[in-house]
Amino acid sequence: MKARIAEVFASVQGEGLYLGEKQIFVRFFDCNLSCTYCDTKLDRFTEYEPKELFEEIKLYRDKYHSISFTGGEPLLYTNFLKEILKLTSGGGYKHYLETNGTLFSELKQLIDRIDIIAMDLKFPSSTGMGNLWQLHRKFLKIAARKEVFLKAIICQATYEDDLKEALAIIKEISPASVLVLQPNSYENQSVLHEKLLNFKEIAIQQGVTTCIIPQIHKIMGLR
Ligand code: SF4
Repeated sequence: MKARIAEVFASVQGEGLYLGEKQIFVRFFDCNLSCTYCDTKLDRFTEYEPKELFEEIKLYRDKYHSISFTGGEPLLYTNFLKEILKLTSGGGYKHYLETNGTLFSELKQLIDRIDIIAMDLKFPSSTGMGNLWQLHRKFLKIAARKEVFLKAIICQATYEDDLKEALAIIKEISPASVLVLQPNSYENQSVLHEKLLNFKEIAIQQGVTTCIIPQIHKIMGLR
């Protein structure tokens, strides 16, 4: 069984609540979505067997917070993940899953071995795609069995109604989870500033803990 993996590397987490933690990154090649703001332009991959990937992970000998399974969308490789997670669990690694939050059946098969989930909430007005709320609902119900935080990309085009829908889902399913508002790195940050503060204020009124965190790795020129 093989998976298409774009890259394996060590760096620090550049976004979300674990910003700055040292991680080993495993970036899977494919994705089931096509967001307009996508910055993951992958054009090559290597095929790995689970054991081959485990051997490569073991080459990173420093102390790392966790392995970040990212993409693309890692959950497209459920069977592969089942195997690699068994191997890395045996090696004492912690597992951090970065996901677009849509493939709930796949998450269900793996949730027992995942420690932390960084789950996207795809706002239709930000992604330029259709409505994914029902998939997000089902996904969050499963993810809430573990530590999960939510992340939403905020663009100039993002509607307040999408934020309100997201807040309603968080309040209903996982009220203790934090929502990270992440400004679209490719848009004018000073223009987004006011919108972000307004969105944070709305979230506070709704009782959902919300942070504004930009992508630090892009600012610092890290991978
Ligand atoms: S889910 Fe992530 S990787 Fe997939 S298209 Fe959207 S931004 Fe890109």
